[in-house]
Amino acid sequence: MSAQAPTHPALSKVLLDEATIKARIQELGVQITRDYAGRRLMIVGVLKGSVIFLADLLRALGPELDVEVDFVAVSSYAGKASTGSVRTLLDLRESPDGKDILVIEDIVDTGLTLTSLTETLLSRKPRSLEVCALLDKPDCRKTPLQPKYVGFKIPNEFVVGFGLDYDERYRQLPCVGVLRT
Ligand code: 5GP
Repeated sequence: MSAQAPTHPALSKVLLDEATIKARIQELGVQITRDYAGRRLMIVGVLKGSVIFLADLLRALGPELDVEVDFVAVSSYAGKASTGSVRTLLDLRESPDGKDILVIEDIVDTGLTLTSLTETLLSRKPRSLEVCALLDKPDCRKTPLQPKYVGFKIPNEFVVGFGLDYDERYRQLPCVGVLRT
């Protein structure tokens, strides 16, 4: 991972460019297709930050895979700081009962959001539950949660782009970059 010149005035640096992200998503798609062969995969996207990643990852999965997609929305952040409390804003429409759930998240920071969400989902008796996160900030973890699939480990900096926002802005940037302060 090498820092590059910013492509947007709001960024102080680009951590991951578009080509690097797309190549890694293809690798994750191959790995997930292999791991879930012959199973009933239920992809659960965590709105809104995961949508760009989810859309690319879904298309990187093999056409033979038995996969359905659902979404949840939880609120945990206001601006740049974790509030610590996780609230469900949108619940699953489909039952996870007996299915292999793969939660798709944009970034794992403290792990509080995913720990709370995965506990809720596990109470509904899926066959299995794993997490796939595009980005992981392991230095910030406050829970033992470790996603099985990680796109990139990144340092403890607030990033935007590729679905990640700052107060709902910058999700459309094709790269992941550090927000200028
Ligand atoms: P956690 O509960 O793991 O601390 O935080 C998870 C959520 O916080 C992510 O889904 C994301 O919405 C938000 N978040 C954590 N770090 C960042 C970051 O660097 N940039 C952005 N845009 N959101 C972040």
